[in-house]
Amino acid sequence: MSCVFCKILSGEALASIIYRDEQVTAFRDIHPIARTHILIIPNRHIASVNELEPGDEALVGHMLMVAKALAAQEGVAENGYRLMVNTGVHGGQTVAHLHLHLIAGKLARFLLG
Ligand code: AMP
Ligand code: ZN
Repeated sequence: MSCVFCKILSGEALASIIYRDEQVTAFRDIHPIARTHILIIPNRHIASVNELEPGDEALVGHMLMVAKALAAQEGVAENGYRLMVNTGVHGGQTVAHLHLHLIAGKLARFLLG
């Protein structure tokens, strides 16, 4: 398996993991673009939104609920944050394992437009 996020899930690659349950794992982005930059990924390899299937609704909803909880935990819920899912080459996706970016801090406004 060459997927870097699957390697993080298996422990083969190191990451700063801040949350894990049966369905998802969250860790800090290795190249943060704002003070808070967390990636929330499914524990099952799903390449992108394009590969989501019927039955994945609860998983996707859970990813959002975990993002909400982590935003509160990081202390950014009140001031606000950006949730982003890049899909495919034109969408700016560079890692082919579905991931939800949780980005917060003043820089997020400037860097992402
Ligand atoms: P995207 O461009 O939406 O596919 O985002 C991929 C993100 O994964 C980028 O923000 C990278 O900085 C991040 N990333 C890539 N490799 C790692 C890694 N080994 N650990 C943590 N974050 C990573
Ligand atoms: Zn993967």
